Formats: sequence, structure tokens, C-alpha cells
Amino acid sequence: MKKISALPADDALPGWYHTSRARTPKPAHIGQKKCRWAIIGAGLTGLAAARQMALNFPDDEIVLIEAQEVGFGSAGRNAGFAIDVPHDIGAKDYIGDVKTAKLILKLNTLGQNYLKDLIKTHDIQCQMSESVKYQAAVGQPGIDILEAYRSGLEKIGRETQMISGKDLPEHLGTSYYKQALFIPGTLLLQPSALVKGLADTLPANVTLYEYTPIKAINYGDKVTLIHDNGSITTDNLILANNGFASEFGFLERKLLPTFLYGSLSRELTQEEQQRLGGKPVWGVIPAHPFGSTIRRTVDNRILVRNSFTFHGNGRPGQAELQKFVENHRKSFQRRFPMLPDVNFEYTWSGAICLSENHEGFFGKLAPNVYGALCCNGLGITRGTATGVLLADMLAGKKSDLTDFLLASPGPNKTPPEPFLSIGVNSVLKWGQFRAGLEV
Ligand SMILES: Cc1cc2nc3c(=O)[nH]c(=O)nc-3n(C[C@H](O)[C@H](O)[C@H](O)COP(=O)(O)OP(=O)(O)OC[C@H]3O[C@@H](n4cnc5c(N)ncnc54)[C@H](O)[C@@H]3O)c2cc1C
Repeated sequence: MKKISALPADDALPGWYHTSRARTPKPAHIGQKKCRWAIIGAGLTGLAAARQMALNFPDDEIVLIEAQEVGFGSAGRNAGFAIDVPHDIGAKDYIGDVKTAKLILKLNTLGQNYLKDLIKTHDIQCQMSESVKYQAAVGQPGIDILEAYRSGLEKIGRETQMISGKDLPEHLGTSYYKQALFIPGTLLLQPSALVKGLADTLPANVTLYEYTPIKAINYGDKVTLIHDNGSITTDNLILANNGFASEFGFLERKLLPTFLYGSLSRELTQEEQQRLGGKPVWGVIPAHPFGSTIRRTVDNRILVRNSFTFHGNGRPGQAELQKFVENHRKSFQRRFPMLPDVNFEYTWSGAICLSENHEGFFGKLAPNVYGALCCNGLGITRGTATGVLLADMLAGKKSDLTDFLLASPGPNKTPPEPFLSIGVNSVLKWGQFRAGLEV
């Protein structure tokens, strides 16, 4: 029997969760159960995999198991950019090999369209806004990155618009940025509202168990998932639990659970909105990957997302949260000096799963265990797409995208602890230092 020693334990104040519709979670599993298919993790990947499995296998029950409540974990803690275009930070023009970039664009577009259709079909109230994404620079190094990215995006046929600093206040209110690349195509979403809505509109043959952390597992002809109140024995297991997959004995020392931090302001008053100016809804991705992501939301709040730490055990501490709220405040004050009295109502951390070579995992892990794992920080579209495609693969449907994902070498191995933590945290600190005023 394999014991799971690290379980998700997210902190208490994820702003998107608390400001979205409250829902009644589905009951935890109690007793013994048998099924043909079980999926662990009801984030974006698991929700997409469960839905698509249900459509592909209408006569089977699909069991979806979540340790916490849907919308409380990373899938409800992110910045809400459902991005279609690739952004390869290892390539000079951030696009790299054009053939690969076009496949990534196709993959992300699949995930984006899948979500868009569901949001419209089920009228999921998640503040979806289309084409409001800017990539913005504060100084010359950032401007050079924008120019390079624009030329890269042209190579894959994506039109963008470069906006000069003097015109940016009309868009963003703030005059902090010196240049921005307007990139149509990205959707902005309220992430917790999205996943809550997805969970409440699953097909009838999906059984979702929330508050059911799997604490041990037995592998064999069948897989038995053990929790505090019983067990679930399944013919086939799908792991959609991102960085926690290594707890289940797979991809050990290959997944890097890295924590990002966000704060959400209170709602701006009418007068503050006028003082700020600019468009009513927008999202800014920093030119430098270690800079701040900023959003003005449909409900007139400001999101600030910056700071990173690596915690191999999947758990950051309160001390980090205290420290990083100060970073968020400084970033807010730099950008919005016209809003001195606007405080943050919520601050939280959330895990992303990175790999050293930026590759994810897709496919078979053992004879009856499959995974769609390690989105490298782009889980909204990529997680959704890989969840759908894994379900299609299990139903015998293949496509150029499935072939592309299966051809990946997967995440590569990293050094053992304590070298790993020292190394990753040094890279993160250096990156944040180099980002300078982009933070
Ligand atoms: C602050 C922040 C900002 C981000 N911004 C963006 C963004 O703008 N755009 C974007 O695309 N991505 C963004 N991301 C990344 C995105 O949130 C993730 O890539 C995405 O959540 C991955 O989805 P997933 O379903 O694969 O995994 P997760 O969302 O991590 O879901 C995995 C689930 O598995 C469950 N689980 C784990 N272990 C067990 C167990 N033992 N038993 C039962 N359940 C278990 C967890 O509770 C969790 O709910 C951001 C992340 C953070 C933290």
C-alpha cells in the first residue's frame, strides 16, 4: 500500500472563491464502492476529463474525487487568463519552433472553445470577458520582450497591436506602463465561479465526491483508493491532481510544486472608478515572466498577482503570505497612486506545477493508471484540453493533438533535496530581482 503523505491544504482567503456564488458541495464518499473509472482531482483538468469520459462512456459511472471543495484549490485561485497563444520563455521570440507553436495554439484553442461553449450552454456566471488582454512593459528590457513576442506571434499568424505609453491610460487608467502589446483572443474569467459552475453542470453519470482526500492507494489489477471513511476500487484511475501526482508514486522528482500569490481589492466606489479611468475590464500580463499580473475585474476590483516560492511538500506557510501581501501593496501603490485608500480584502497562495524542461505529462503511467498532469502554469486552457483529450484517447479516439502530447518526453528529473529546494528558490529569487519594476 502506498501512503499519501502530502495532501492539499490551501489557505483560507482565496478572493475568487469568497466573492463568487456559494454552492453546496457534493457529499464526501462514505463506505465501499466499485467503479470502472475514477478520477482524482476536480480542478480544470479533472472536471474536463470527467465530463468528456461521461460523454464517451454514457453507460458507465465516472467517479470524480476531490480532497477539498471545488473552486477552493488552485483552479479557483488563479489569475483567470484563459490563454490561447503559446509563450515559450526559452525562445528568443517567445514562439520558437513554428510547427510546435501552432500545435500548442491549437491545443489551447481547443480548451478555450470547450470552456466557452460550456459557459454559454449552461449560462455559467463567471464574468467571462473576451479580448481584454495586454502584455505590458515598464522599461526598455520589457519593451524589447514585447517587440520580440510581437514578431513571434506574427509567424503563427496572430495579429497584435502595440500601444504606446501615452495612450495606455485610456485603456488601463494607470500611466505606469511604457508600452503594451494588445493580444486579442484571451478570455478573462472569474476562476472560482467557473469551476463551481462546471462542477454543478456535470453530466448525470458523473458522481463527484468533495472533501474526500485520498490518503493511501493499492495498485494491482484494480486500484483501491483509501480515505478516512472507506474506499473506492476502480478498474482504471486517471490522475488529474497536478503536482500531487508524485505522492501517488509517479513522476517522482519530476514535478515542481511552485506557489504563486494573489490579492484582491475591495470593490472600487463609483468615484474611485472615475478617478482611475480607462476601460471597465482588462488584464495585464507582465512583459517579464516574474513581474506582476494585474486585472480590473467585472465587479470593479483590482487583482495583483506576484511573488513565487517553491515548496516540495506542497505547503507554503503563513509567513510567506504576510510577506507577499506587502509586495502586492507596493505593486498596487506604484500603479494606482490615485487610489491610496483601496485596501485588499483577500490574499492567498496557490500551487502551480512546473517542470524543469517545461514539459507536461499526458498518457499512461501504469497498465490501468493514466494522467494529464503538470500544466506549467497554464492550466485553464491546457488543463481543460488535456483532460478532454485523455478521455478521448481512452475511448480510442486519436488526433494530431493526442499524437503531439504523447510524443512529449515528459517532465525531466531534478536533483534530490535539499539541492532541489535551494536551486529552485534561488532561480525564483533571481528572476524576481531581475524583473525589477515589472513586479
Ligand atoms: C495565483 C495563481 C495564478 C495563476 N494564473 C493562471 C492564469 O491566469 N491562467 C492559467 O491558465 N493558469 C493560471 N494558474 C495555474 C492554474 O491555476 C493551474 O495550472 C490549474 O489550476 C491546474 O489545473 P489542474 O486541474 O491540472 O490542477 P489543480 O487545479 O491543482 O487541481 C488538482 C486537484 O487535485 C486535488 N487533489 C490533490 N491531491 C488529492 C488527493 N490526495 N485526494 C483528492 N484530491 C486531491 C486538489 O485538491 C486539486 O483541487 C495560476 C495559478 C495560481 C496559483
